[in-house]
Order: sequence, then C-alpha cells, then structure tokens
Amino acid sequence: MRAAIQPLSLYCSNSSKLMASSSNSLMWFRKGIRIHDNPALEYAAKGANFLYPVFVIDPHYMEPDPSAFSPGSSRAGLNRIRFLLESLVDLDLNLKKLGSRLLVLHGEPGEVLIRCLEEWNVKKLCFEYDTDPYYQALDARVQNLASAAGIEVFSPVSHTLFNPADIIQKNGGSPPLSYQSFLKLAGEPSWACAPLSTTVSSLPPVGDTGRSDISDVPTIKDLGYEDMAKDDWTPFRGGETEALKRLEESMSNKDWVAKFEKPKGDPSAFLKPATTVLSPYLKFGCLSSRYFYQRIQEIYNNVEGHTSPPVSLVGQLLWREFFYTAAFGTPNFDRMKDNKICKQIPWNDDNELLAAWRDARTGFPWIDAIMVQLRKWGWMHHLARHCVACFLTRGDLFVHWEKGRDVFERLLIDSDWAINNANWLWLSCSSFFYQYNRVYSPITFGKKYDPNGDFIRHFLPVLKDMPKQYIYEPWTAPLSIQKKAKCIIGEDYPKPVVSHDIAIKECRKKMGEAYELNKRLKGLISEEDLENLKKRNTEEDQRQNAQTKRKRQTLNDWIQPQ
Ligand SMILES: Cc1cc2nc3c(=O)[nH]c(=O)nc-3n(C[C@H](O)[C@H](O)[C@H](O)COP(=O)(O)OP(=O)(O)OC[C@H]3O[C@@H](n4cnc5c(N)ncnc54)[C@H](O)[C@@H]3O)c2cc1C
Repeated sequence: MRAAIQPLSLYCSNSSKLMASSSNSLMWFRKGIRIHDNPALEYAAKGANFLYPVFVIDPHYMEPDPSAFSPGSSRAGLNRIRFLLESLVDLDLNLKKLGSRLLVLHGEPGEVLIRCLEEWNVKKLCFEYDTDPYYQALDARVQNLASAAGIEVFSPVSHTLFNPADIIQKNGGSPPLSYQSFLKLAGEPSWACAPLSTTVSSLPPVGDTGRSDISDVPTIKDLGYEDMAKDDWTPFRGGETEALKRLEESMSNKDWVAKFEKPKGDPSAFLKPATTVLSPYLKFGCLSSRYFYQRIQEIYNNVEGHTSPPVSLVGQLLWREFFYTAAFGTPNFDRMKDNKICKQIPWNDDNELLAAWRDARTGFPWIDAIMVQLRKWGWMHHLARHCVACFLTRGDLFVHWEKGRDVFERLLIDSDWAINNANWLWLSCSSFFYQYNRVYSPITFGKKYDPNGDFIRHFLPVLKDMPKQYIYEPWTAPLSIQKKAKCIIGEDYPKPVVSHDIAIKECRKKMGEAYELNKRLKGLISEEDLENLKKRNTEEDQRQNAQTKRKRQTLNDWIQPQ
C-alpha cells in the first residue's frame, strides 16, 4: 500500500478552539529545508495567528574566504553554497504557494533569532533538532534564552529515522559500534507504519516584520562571490521540488529499488549514476529521510522479493542512522586525538602529497578523475570515495584522514558532519573497519568497471586520446604514443607521485606497527609514543630508499619536465 499522504491545513483562521491559544510563532529553518514531513513547521503553524518562517545567513558558513583553496567560504565550497541558495529559493516559492514566504536575515544566528523573537512578540519557536556539534552549542544557547523569556520551544527529531539519543540509551549509554548491533537495537522506526504529513494546503500569514532587515534569498554575487564558470557548476540543482522529482524517478523503477545492492553499482557511471544521488537533498533536508524510507518500504511490500541491509536501499539509509548515532555518542568523533574509538596512527604531514591529491595531480588517472568529479560535481559514487580516501591514507600516501576529511567537507555538496567523519574513520582503518591489508588499487579497481576509461576521459580531458591499454597507467605508454595522444607524461599530465607497489607495502607495514602499539598500550597512546613511531617510520623510509635507490618520486619530478 502506498504511504498515505495526509493533506493538512496548518492555518485554522477561524477555528475557535485554535484561536483561543493563538499566537505568533517562528519557524527557524536550518536543515529541513522542506514543507513535506516537517513536524517543526507543522507545530509552528498550528494555532498561530502569524507565522514567521526564517532562514539566517550565517557568516560562519557563508562569508567568502579568499584564502581557501577553492572558491567559497572557509567551510563550504561554492557549489554547496549555490545548492543551499537554490534550496532556499525553492522553499520560498513553496511557502508563497501556501500564503507565506521565507524571511531571510543575516548575522550570527543566535543574536538574530533572539532579536526577532522579541520584536515579533513570538510565543512559540520551532526548529528541527540537529545533532551536529555546531548546532548543539548554538541551539542550547537559543533555547535557554527563549525559555527564559517564556517562549515555548519545540525541536523535534526529523532529520533522521531514529533519535540517536534513544538508541544510545537502549545500549546502556554508549553508541553501538557495529552496524549489526545498531540494527538489532534500532528495530523498526516507531512512526514507520503511520502516515506522514507530506502535503500542506495553507499556512498562517507572515506578520509585521517591523524594523528587521529582511531580504530575499541572496544570489552568489550578493554574498560577495565571483561566480564560477558554468562548466564548474555541479549538475545537481538544490531544493525540495528537485528532491521529490529525483525521488520519484528512483522509485518509478521498482525492480531497481527492490534489487539495489550497493557494492554491485558502477562507481564510474557518470551519465546515469548507479545510485540515487539523493544525498545532497538528505543533507539539507530538502528530502525527508522518513518519507524516503516509507516510499522504499511501500515498494518492498509490493514485490516478490528484495535485498536486505546492509546492501539494500533501506540498508543505505540505515548506514546513515548508524553513523549519526555513533557520531552523536562519541566525544571528539571528528578527530584522532582524544577519540576513544579511533586508532592512534602516526600519519605523515606531507602537504605536497596532500595538495597533489586534492588538486587531482597524483598521476593516477582513476584517482585524479574522481577528485575532479569531487571539485566539479561535489558528488561521487560511494566506491569512488572509497578509492580516493584509501589512496590518501592507508593505501598509498599515508596522509592523515582528518586532512582528507577537510577537503571532502568543503567540496562535497552532500557534506555531512557525522557521515563524512564516520566514513573517513572507516576508510583509514581508524575505526569500524580494520582490515588494512585490503587496499583499493588505483590502477586495476576502476578498470574492472570501465576498461575503456570513459570516466577518466570525461573528467580528465587531457587524457582523452590516450589508448585504452594505457589510460590507467599513462606513464607506461611509449613516448611516441604519448605524443600521438598529445599528452606527455611529466609535462601535460603528472608522473605518479608514488610507486603504488612500493607505497602499499610501506603503508601496510606502518599500519601493522601502529595496530601493534594500539594493542599493546590498549589504545592509551601518548603523543610522544606516536611521535616516536613516526620518527622510526621516517628513518626506516630513508634507510630503505638509500638501500634500494628507489627514491619516491617527488612532485618536482613532474613539475619540471624532462
Ligand atoms: C570517505 C567518504 C566520505 C563520505 N562523506 C559523505 C558525506 O559527507 N555525506 C554523505 O551523505 N555521504 C557521505 N559518504 C557516504 C556515501 O558515499 C554517500 O552517502 C553516497 O555515495 C551518496 O550517494 P547516493 O545518495 O546516490 O547514495 P545511495 O546509495 O542512493 O543511498 C541513499 C542514501 O543512503 C545514505 N548512505 C548511503 N551510503 C552511506 C554510507 N556509507 N554512510 C552513510 N550514509 C549512507 C545517504 O544518505 C544516501 O543518500 C561518504 C563516503 C565515504 C567513503
């Protein structure tokens, strides 16, 4: 049976019962940029004379940072900022259809909010509960001030299927650290069979906004950015309308939904990605994860058989839940230091290697093409993310996972604090997953899916004429072939920054030693222990290099053409 859609009028202008308790409410949008299944909005509208739907442009997130390595603010690349602005324009349009509009204000959200509450005589403040550390601190401040002023605060959990705090409580106060134990604890979401409010017919009007400095949704230029070339825009447009359209497209192929099996998808598929690409919409809450879940369940109920977690489509949503819960219940989840679930590993601080990876100059076309996709699209297939994260950390370069995390955090349009950190912990074998001997080859892995190298040719046009037998290892092509392909390795495209065969062995050895130390000291590793291990690794690298004369190629090798 199709998940029931409950049309809901949230504006009861002449209902005596509601008028009796009528007042002004403020709906504070942050994530949850949608009308459908939005319990905070629903509650804000109920019985309100006037409803103030607010979004605050937060300089912490939006202010241009000219010193950042890509256009954008200090926290977000321009593609994600544009995606957010598009989502706000769409929200404004959808609110207008319901007799309301979005009020955009600028400034530190706590201060702006408190001013508005007072000026507009707000009696009810509603916003979606947010587990991210930034919002935990901000919301506690706003909530305290609002409550002290006698304002009712309503902050429901609706970004996730479960309340992470409930799962942690069920587990005796700590988060489950394996997917299977999470599944066991979580069970079915309590609301799963109940109809969600997915359509709204009207909203209370916006009241007088007094002297408040309200603007329309700003453009990229209004925020002080030079716009990027259209070529570098992500192909994914923001907003609830687009999210629901995308969802419908995915759900229309019932067989595909029922048979969805994550590891079987093709990470190199770019004309039609192998997964839903709903992550940016879930990140900003343009799509309700609960509605998504119900729509999948509805298909499962009407087909003969379907896949199951961890590989199924519902299984993917449950990965999201699992990581939200682990992140919420683990102090210092986003770093190695003082993070109890994170192995202490003496990662190197090689900024040249980091920059080569970040700027798609590693000389490994599969890796570089994915990194170009990250910069241009802000989205890559899950296994593509695996490949580049593994390559940067335990696979080849042994660079700290936090540095890779930062690059993803900035450039992904679906950048999500809990999920991004969790997956970097996973891929670097720092937590959750510990089989560090299993490494993705930057040469053969992509070839299995895309022997012709179409993905590479698309994202790295410099290699578009390289014959297929060399496309994954262009440095092995004879010079005559390189000339014919108009791509001289070391001039037009970099030589590889490491020899994969050597790097993989060195990384495994370092991981082995670090794991041994973690085991011996039961995770209680001091910074001095780590420094000592790092020093030993460096000395060993130098000794090996001198002995075998296999010097790792430095970036200068290819920066200066032969
Ligand atoms: C190093 C690394 C960093 C990542 N950073 C992020 C991030 O910042 N934000 C983000 O949303 N995902 C992140 N992922 C997880 C995953 O790659 C993306 O969620 C997925 O590729 C999004 O594409 P999709 O919407 O087509 O996914 P689908 O396969 O269609 O899955 C549907 C939804 O399930 C959720 N999901 C799928 N896989 C995962 C997963 N492994 N962990 C948690 N949730 C999952 C997402 O919300 C996704 O939209 C990261 C993965 C890796 C390896």
